Amino acid sequence: SQSLREADPEIFKGIQGELGRQKEQIELIASENIVSQAVLEAQGSVLTNKYAEGYPGRRYYGGCEYVDITETLARERAKTLFGAAFANVQPHSGAQANQAVFQALLTPGDTFLGMDLPAAGTLTHGSPANQSGKWFRPVTYMVRKDDHLIDYDNVAEMAEREKPKLILAGASAYSRHIDFKKFREIADSVGAYLMVDMAHYAGLIAGGAYPDPLPHAHVVTTTTHKTLRGPRGGMVLTNDGDIAKKINSAVFPGLQGGPLEHVIAAKAVAFGEALKPEFKGYAQQVVKNAQAMADVLVERGLAIVSGGTDSHLMLVDLRPKGVTGKATEHELEKALMTCNKNGVPFDDAPFTITSGVRLGTPAGTTRGFGEDEFRQIGHWIADVVVSMNGGDEADTAVAAGVAAQVRELTHSFPIYR
Ligand code: PLP
Repeated sequence: SQSLREADPEIFKGIQGELGRQKEQIELIASENIVSQAVLEAQGSVLTNKYAEGYPGRRYYGGCEYVDITETLARERAKTLFGAAFANVQPHSGAQANQAVFQALLTPGDTFLGMDLPAAGTLTHGSPANQSGKWFRPVTYMVRKDDHLIDYDNVAEMAEREKPKLILAGASAYSRHIDFKKFREIADSVGAYLMVDMAHYAGLIAGGAYPDPLPHAHVVTTTTHKTLRGPRGGMVLTNDGDIAKKINSAVFPGLQGGPLEHVIAAKAVAFGEALKPEFKGYAQQVVKNAQAMADVLVERGLAIVSGGTDSHLMLVDLRPKGVTGKATEHELEKALMTCNKNGVPFDDAPFTITSGVRLGTPAGTTRGFGEDEFRQIGHWIADVVVSMNGGDEADTAVAAGVAAQVRELTHSFPIYR
């Protein structure tokens, strides 16, 4: 049969364009990474042809002997990696992993407590635009105004007042450690389930570079494609046998039909990589790199929410520089650095504009950048932002000069050779 290049040149060209972009730009989007050739190969395999509704050993289709092997490996590796008694590796995404927990443990109308979106939360934790906010009753906790840390007293107060059935910890733009033990104490004090969405931190947790939620949470969800460096997808973990049964029913047949066995095989490959000793070094380097970049940004007069980071990401508050998140994202892209605009705590700007950008080190660290490179990147970001001079556009010469240097750096750290 024909190669993609011959069969569909238009799509081939689009994929080649994206490969070129990933090779040339510095990827600073905190939720992205660069998977291995082995992960790509598993995901692009013949397993995409297979229907396998059900679970290993209990399928609704014939011919599942090989996908039973790969899915079992994915489950076992996930359990070992995170020290969990149970793993469901079938959710197609992080959003569906979260939805599965809601379906398993809540009924529509139930109250749950989650982090406020502008304070660093995420859509599936109760946004009015998401099913979690439409079908359930979310109440939200905030970060403190002065140090931008989670206000555990506020969490406890909200829990006491609202008596939620579930408390959700985890975020997509919170750079500091989350005290999962404290969350569990608060959950226990009101008889609520504690759910942790570790999507952003999963790779750091696997590598021992971030606090582990498994000993504290009733149930843990994650994506597999962020710091964990696997294919796009989701997963649910628990140590509670009753919850495990409910999660299996909620994922299939509750929410999904046939599992994506090619993606599940790629998840298994990524979990295998994360079980290797080198992954600990990777996770630790991701955090050191983020701290090195944050230090330079602060030196250069940019404000970092909470003053720094204990993880792979940081939120830059651009209000002191008088520029918007939207304009900064755009101008950094001209300089070949990709990031995303992001609201900051107590942001008055509309969410389509925002007053911040979120920056992360997982992808750059995968391609081999260390602290020196990330300090340099911090200077380039500051050069671009300072040259915007409170407006919407960077100085053309500055942006072009930075772009030329970025190109040189990315050529010295090649990917997918
Ligand atoms: N959970 C957290 C904390 C996230 O940040 C995100 C995505 O940004 C999700 C869940 C949703 O994951 P997905 O995009 O795979 O649906």
